[in-house]
Amino acid sequence: MPRHYVVPSLITWLMLLVCQSGCCLLDSITAASNFSLVPNYINTSNLHQDYCERKRKLPNFVGWRLSTEKLTATLPIDNIQENYVREVQNSIFSVVYPTPLKSRVLLVAVSKEVLEDILDLDFSVSETEEFLHLVSGTKILLESLPLAHRYGGHQFGSWAGQLGDGRAHLIGVYTNRFGDRWELQLKGSGRTPYSRNGDGRAVLHSSVREFLGSEAMHFLGIPTSRAASLVVSDDDVWRDRFYNGNIKKERGAIVLRIAKSWFRVGSLEILAFSGELELLRTLLDLVISEHFPSINVNDSNRYLIFFSEVVSETAHLIALWMSVGFAHGVCNTDNFSLLSITIDYGPFGFMDSYDPDFVPNTSDDERRYKIGNQANVGMFNLNKLFQALNPLLDIRQKQLASQILEGYPEQYYKHFTELFKAKLGLLGDSEDDGYLIAFLLKLMEDTKADFTMTFRQLSEISQDQLKELSIPQEFWALQDVAKHKFFANWVAMYLLRLKRNTGDSYSERSRRMIGINPRYVLRNWMAESAVQKAERNDFSEVRLLQQVLQHPFQMQTVAERAGYAQRPPAWAKEIKVSCSS
Ligand code: AMP
Ligand code: MG
Repeated sequence: MPRHYVVPSLITWLMLLVCQSGCCLLDSITAASNFSLVPNYINTSNLHQDYCERKRKLPNFVGWRLSTEKLTATLPIDNIQENYVREVQNSIFSVVYPTPLKSRVLLVAVSKEVLEDILDLDFSVSETEEFLHLVSGTKILLESLPLAHRYGGHQFGSWAGQLGDGRAHLIGVYTNRFGDRWELQLKGSGRTPYSRNGDGRAVLHSSVREFLGSEAMHFLGIPTSRAASLVVSDDDVWRDRFYNGNIKKERGAIVLRIAKSWFRVGSLEILAFSGELELLRTLLDLVISEHFPSINVNDSNRYLIFFSEVVSETAHLIALWMSVGFAHGVCNTDNFSLLSITIDYGPFGFMDSYDPDFVPNTSDDERRYKIGNQANVGMFNLNKLFQALNPLLDIRQKQLASQILEGYPEQYYKHFTELFKAKLGLLGDSEDDGYLIAFLLKLMEDTKADFTMTFRQLSEISQDQLKELSIPQEFWALQDVAKHKFFANWVAMYLLRLKRNTGDSYSERSRRMIGINPRYVLRNWMAESAVQKAERNDFSEVRLLQQVLQHPFQMQTVAERAGYAQRPPAWAKEIKVSCSS
């Protein structure tokens, strides 16, 4: 291949990829006021200490504490306590109880890992009535006040004003045996002051996707919220899924999801927009002291350092998304975590064929959140964060913050390159590494090769087979790339580059690559198939996927039999997902 011809166009293309790339509560919840999962007469603190010491997992909720005390003591709470839609001011949270689902509730799936490793609960707890009550929002732990968070955000590029938790309730913060604090949130648990025109509900379809998607991301090693459980009811929830007037009846579902913090860029933006600067400062100081231990809370540059960390971590997160072909779908500032974790799973997608123009959200007409534009949108969102912090920065700090932001593309590029080098098993540095990566991606784009399996099969194929360009049939994705007229050139360049891996061997490289190139990701068709069964109360496929995706790098007979590493079925292309969920 004439390199002088290809290099500039590929580099330009890569750069494009990089750059585009309480009180009145009694009437809102039945029985909430007189139900407690913690009997009042038990000294819970002793019990808590007891099980911490023995690192035992609790078989029930006796001694298990949730609290929102610290949040409500530090941050102002909306003084209106009735649950009606309104503009809220000078507050971070509103106290609001979940609205229980009316019909029978079924447990679709539970994450054993979240229960046991994070929440100190034995898996058997999920078989109890109390658990079902807790995760479906019918009963709340007495010591914890459920809260809905007030935030704003830029949606699809424009300031949308107040958004907030319109269908989510923070039911408490749990401090586990390692001293880690986790915020537990129900999603789909009813209307709040922030519901605007929404019904406060989530449907089974999107809830299965959030449950499986967030757990899958965790096991891929990507910072994300987690999902503890998923319940479904027979409550009718009406949705116009594709905004075409075709309103359909769906079933209400609730996910219990957890994160170290649910604060978002929009949490700060709304305070800056409404000039609530003291509150902005209070919230920031809380976020910094709780979640950024390396920052000294008395440092006059703390907001600047905070900004710098969020810029770095966001660049890293988006590069990680790209490394597994994940498109979030709705990268609005209200869906961008201040802790740079993946949150608010909606119309996300793992791309099948490699395509920088892949848009998972069928209602994203402008294709704003296509996969190849995520890095760019990250910059936009960080700029909005910068603007929100602006009133708290002096002139010098503003200049520095601006420079930090300017450094974002380079940080992103660095992470992206490192991750893709690792995907290719490259060690050390070589000038042409960026080119080698871009070259392969271009071949994949031209041949519509499968993103996940091309990298996986490159990890599995023997060096001799690659050298001889004899790609066995089972390496179907690689066979697609091999149809490209420049494939042989790429292979020659790749093999030459591998020789520069000092102290490496074929088996060592293959082992490394297999450990980071997943064999299974949550493809849309896999989620869709599981959802269709779940709609008929057959939760087997949801649970199968959950189990398989806990080991995405490990070949599993059950997954092979289900075709999860095969070419996606033709109907996969017809699947549509949208914001309406
Ligand atoms: P999302 O795009 O899902 O992150 O949601 C954007 C905003 O719309 C957030 O403020 C959500 O709480 C709110 N929202 C989404 N769906 C609903 C719903 N069904 N009922 C109430 N609020 C909703
Ligand atoms: Mg959201």
